[in-house]
Amino acid sequence: MTERPLVEDYHEHTSSERHFAEPIVFWDETLRDGEQMPGVHFSPEEKLRIAELLSEIGVSVINAGIPVVSEEEARAVRRLVEAGLKAKVLAAARTVPADVDAVIRSGATHLAVFIAASEVHLRYKLAMSQEQVLAAAVAAVTRGKEAGLHVAFVTEDTVRAPLDFVERLYRAVLDAGADRVVVSDTVGIMTPLTFRWFLKEFQRRVQPKDWSVHCHNDFGLAVANTLAALEVGVTSPHTCVNGLGERAGNAAFEEVAMALESLYGLKTGLDTSRLYEVSRLVEDLAGVPIAPNKALVGYNSFSHEAGIHTHGILKHTLTYEPIQPEKVGRRRQMILGKHTGRAAVVEKLKERRAVADDPLLQALLHEIKSRTEAGGKDRLVKLLQEYRALFERPGLSDEEFWKMVAKLGIATESS
Ligand code: MN
Repeated sequence: MTERPLVEDYHEHTSSERHFAEPIVFWDETLRDGEQMPGVHFSPEEKLRIAELLSEIGVSVINAGIPVVSEEEARAVRRLVEAGLKAKVLAAARTVPADVDAVIRSGATHLAVFIAASEVHLRYKLAMSQEQVLAAAVAAVTRGKEAGLHVAFVTEDTVRAPLDFVERLYRAVLDAGADRVVVSDTVGIMTPLTFRWFLKEFQRRVQPKDWSVHCHNDFGLAVANTLAALEVGVTSPHTCVNGLGERAGNAAFEEVAMALESLYGLKTGLDTSRLYEVSRLVEDLAGVPIAPNKALVGYNSFSHEAGIHTHGILKHTLTYEPIQPEKVGRRRQMILGKHTGRAAVVEKLKERRAVADDPLLQALLHEIKSRTEAGGKDRLVKLLQEYRALFERPGLSDEEFWKMVAKLGIATESS
């Protein structure tokens, strides 16, 4: 099996355009942005289980959460710190002294302070001027540095902020000692080319040594944009297992990792054979099912049913699979169904050392196809109905909410 990049010839023609950092520092956001996904909640123990596995896989930085959010959240951060993981434990804070102090108290060695940068956020959300944002940012970074923390400075909505302000703000926090700076595409509006342009402009103006990107998937481009950023030389991608996160989620960890390993032929240092394991763990603990056709970790990613495909796979797996499933900790599956062909049946019979002549094979194929075609969809429809009831409106029901309101004696107008 080849270990070469999968499109090596094309890469030769484009190599002058790529400037990957060495090493690439994976920064996991599953426990922070991923947990902010509607309906998702991890207990401190669950956060620890996910963090331990990510750390074993080789993720470098794990954002454990925002300690000021709740007592439980602060406890989760401390749990991760006390576990002595190989990965650095990071905790996040608004550029507010109390938030930063909560991170300092948590024992996390890494702090990420964040504030919004775009006009629409400053005017409507923060009601702050650019000068006030800049002052708050510098003060928070300084507070973190004085406490001896590794400090990352993050702006929300960086790509929609005026570039001159971005330049002034990031230069100021770097002067204040920020160790790493993060550029965010908070509402997922970049394309690989526009993001590349933005980041090169950012690089020219700010000259960051250690920089991250935080990409959202509103248009399905989070992974593509993250890869575009890494090609420019960004050192640290923010990712979430299974692409969890606010709205359409963040760049999927497994997809970014495997694109680097298999498409570019880079050594990420990650144990990719455990990607499926961490995907399943996060699926279980987040309670968010992944789509069957999800890249790499979806049920169908290495499954074959169609006759032409199974025939090809049985001759040589590279015909219809870009990589070996074992590379992400999976196994190939041959599915017997409506589209099954002779080759798959012959192969299946071998499992019990059986052979069948042509008429018997035809009869068996006929049985398989008619059984599948006759199969009702009742179970699936029932499952989908339950799934929709859960996911169309996660969180508290209206009924539960109004019961709480009544219990606390809050007067309402009855409708
Ligand atoms: Mn986010």
